[in-house]
Amino acid sequence: MAELNLILLGPPGAGKGTQAEQLRTEFELPHIATGDILRQAVAEQTELGELAASYMDAGNLVPDEVIIGVLLEAVGRPDARDGFLLDGFPRTIPQAEALSTDLEKLGRQLTAVLMIEVDDEEIVQRISGRRVNPVSGRVYHVDFDPPKVEGIDDVDGTPLVQREDDQPETVRNRLAVYHAQTAPLADYYEKLGLLHRFDGSAAPSEVFSHIRATIATLKLEETI
Ligand code: ADP
Ligand code: ADP
Repeated sequence: MAELNLILLGPPGAGKGTQAEQLRTEFELPHIATGDILRQAVAEQTELGELAASYMDAGNLVPDEVIIGVLLEAVGRPDARDGFLLDGFPRTIPQAEALSTDLEKLGRQLTAVLMIEVDDEEIVQRISGRRVNPVSGRVYHVDFDPPKVEGIDDVDGTPLVQREDDQPETVRNRLAVYHAQTAPLADYYEKLGLLHRFDGSAAPSEVFSHIRATIATLKLEETI
């Protein structure tokens, strides 16, 4: 297969970032996470960050016209030439359409959309225990995936933080936004024959082995 152009789809807290970490190591793909890009812009107080902050704090989506340009720029970079792993994009039908129009222009296409499914109750549990390294974006969970030393990143020693938008009130709104605006993408990609569903309630290593097996099958189909 010439390129692996993958999308990770799923509700907030489904485990997209957790799986992306493993996938990028195994398949050497750049991990393009729009949430990480936006949080960095907010921290650096760039124009993009100032535009995005109020939407993010409320758990709403940043407007399509803001995020689409950011994403297409990342996909167009040299390190994404042989493939990419999108995490957190697209989140609306117009975003999905903008992505496919852009890829088409470049003579590229999506390989697969990997949808991680987890029910709302478990999402709230996961998000309330999520802790992140604000520099690298690495994710932990106080119960399900704790760091070796409480509050400290295993790899580089950075103190872990809880995201502002991981408070219960905001999480409920993010879930409502997901069901209204992002969940319709499952149908959209299913009709295009690109959707693969995964049970995200299993342990991270199990979810990963299912995803890996699917990618291996896709690669095999390509060579037949
Ligand atoms: P997303 O990127 O989809 O928002 P994350 O990868 O950040 O999700 O995961 C959300 C939280 O749930 C994190 O605290 C993470 O450690 C934890 N988590 C991820 N995958 C699993 C899993 N399969 N089982 C239990 N907890 C998980
Ligand atoms: P999670 O995976 O936990 O839902 P993300 O880190 O992907 O969270 O996103 C955090 C916030 O960044 C979202 O609630 C939203 O405000 C904004 N955001 C990220 N990606 C997009 C996108 N593709 N479109 C609009 N807003 C986005």
